Amino acid sequence: MALQKRRRGPKRTRQQRSAWMKKSGENRPLVQGCPNCGAPRIPHRVCGACGFYNGAQVAKARTADAAE
Ligand SMILES: [Zn+2]
Repeated sequence: MALQKRRRGPKRTRQQRSAWMKKSGENRPLVQGCPNCGAPRIPHRVCGACGFYNGAQVAKARTADAAE
């Protein structure tokens, strides 16, 4: 089995993901709504808008309500 020589960096990942998002088909990544805030979110990833994962806040929210 072929082994990759090195891990692909964030730039290449995002470039490829951008190409996937433009096309429709089996390889297109799923984008579902966040159960907490409803923002589009890739499954099994922390929500970028509210920072929630699995019903708990695990990351800082990117919203303007940083008052607390
Ligand atoms: Zn969210």
